[in-house]
Amino acid sequence: MSEQISSSPAFSVIMNGSFDRVRQYPTLGEIFESEELSRALLEAARWPQGPECLNCKALGAACKLTTRPGLWTCKACRRCQYSVTSGTPLHGTRVTLAGWVVLFHTHEVRRQRLSVSQVSRKLGVSYLTAKSMLRRLEELRTEMPEMADRLRNQLTDLSGNRDAPQAAMPKVSSAITGL
Ligand SMILES: [Zn+2]
Repeated sequence: MSEQISSSPAFSVIMNGSFDRVRQYPTLGEIFESEELSRALLEAARWPQGPECLNCKALGAACKLTTRPGLWTCKACRRCQYSVTSGTPLHGTRVTLAGWVVLFHTHEVRRQRLSVSQVSRKLGVSYLTAKSMLRRLEELRTEMPEMADRLRNQLTDLSGNRDAPQAAMPKVSSAITGL
């Protein structure tokens, strides 16, 4: 089972990138509760070949900055700092990445279309934040369909390969003040 999982390019990015210490691929429940794992999953979905510079488009020139989690710089042009949300509809979000993964999984894998009130209640975010999340999710689907497809496939693989707990909602409310 683990061989099958690690043969996916996107998963190898996670295994060889941020999560080389992870011997066994995490469960959905672990991803939903981990900002680090959620970030790695989003990075693999956006950059199946590894991080790509937003400025010069260089591949393989990304260098992880230690100053802030998830921040990359470019060794090729040295003019760019970026994260997995830079240049996407999720840019500037104050919602945790784990919260985004949970919402994406609920809508795109479990096919449960939540209302604004339901998102607000389940993720413990304000009504306005929930409304903004649903709008941004729709933008992600339309503006970055390849990333959305890969993320959907990864989460679907994880759902199928594991007896995953039903999308336990992460506690994301404390850091969120609304958008
Ligand atoms: Zn660059």
